[in-house]
Amino acid sequence: MAAGLLVTLYEYSPFFYISLVFLCFVVTAAMVLGWFGFDVPVILRSSDETESLLPTPEKPMVQMTNPFILEMGPRPASVADGVSLRPCCLEPCVLSCFWGCEVSALQAALKAHQHHPLSAPQCLQEALQLRYHHCHSFHIGSEDREERRTQIPADQGIADFGPLPRERYPLVAVLTLAEPEARDTYNIVASLTVIHVPDDKYSLSARVLFQYLLTSQGNMFELKPLFMSADSGGVSEPPDSEQRTQPSEPNEACRVEPSPVAEEAWRGRDCVVCQNAAVNKVLLPCRHACVCDSCVSHFQHCPMCRAFVQESFTLTQGPAEQ
Ligand SMILES: [Zn+2]
Ligand SMILES: [Zn+2]
Repeated sequence: MAAGLLVTLYEYSPFFYISLVFLCFVVTAAMVLGWFGFDVPVILRSSDETESLLPTPEKPMVQMTNPFILEMGPRPASVADGVSLRPCCLEPCVLSCFWGCEVSALQAALKAHQHHPLSAPQCLQEALQLRYHHCHSFHIGSEDREERRTQIPADQGIADFGPLPRERYPLVAVLTLAEPEARDTYNIVASLTVIHVPDDKYSLSARVLFQYLLTSQGNMFELKPLFMSADSGGVSEPPDSEQRTQPSEPNEACRVEPSPVAEEAWRGRDCVVCQNAAVNKVLLPCRHACVCDSCVSHFQHCPMCRAFVQESFTLTQGPAEQ
């Protein structure tokens, strides 16, 4: 029967050859497109397919509540006129401003913190062993957002902090919990901010150089900024503390709960890829907070800066939060 059919087809040779060529074409196309489960040649794969083969690992995070926020005020800062600082704390706090603090003294104090946590306001003062020019303290109520102005008294006659490289930080601002009971409630017991203040020798504008959170277990985490797209659609990467949201990921991943102020910065922003869901993933190491939970798995390169994505972490846990 089949042989008879082939013979008949062979007799109508043009039709037979056309169908043979067509069959070969279909089989080749099927192989190329991977319908038979053969591995697709790399050159034919779309970039999305490649990326979905290797999902971005999620960084394990621990959530902690940070009772402290310290930002620099909008007014210009200088050694002569002082610096305005805007604290916002969940509990009554003490803000201690150490002017002209020796770099080595601060390093020694942070090292001492590993054994004796610097939780009380006077602890750091003792640990620094008076190796600073001037200390200025303020009491801050809970949720008190009033701006505080600190400066070195003019009678000390300090106009600069020496030539570069410097042995002293212009200003170290430390927030500690005022009430001893509160120190047992929070894992984070102090926030330490090193601020550059322009002077005659080095006129770079005032800015936060780095910020650390100290824990009651004697650990120290650096706070780093997150970067988000601006409302206009362009990319803004403000170096100021406005968008210094909390997630710090030190040695083994600690996530600090986003503070109310910082949270406003990223809440309600739409994913730059689908423009549909809220931004909920931060890509590492570039720290761009730009994609939603579902889009993150499609990218091996950051959609904002094209940096290779090594890991990502979540801003809010669970679908319960909007
Ligand atoms: Zn998305
Ligand atoms: Zn990026």
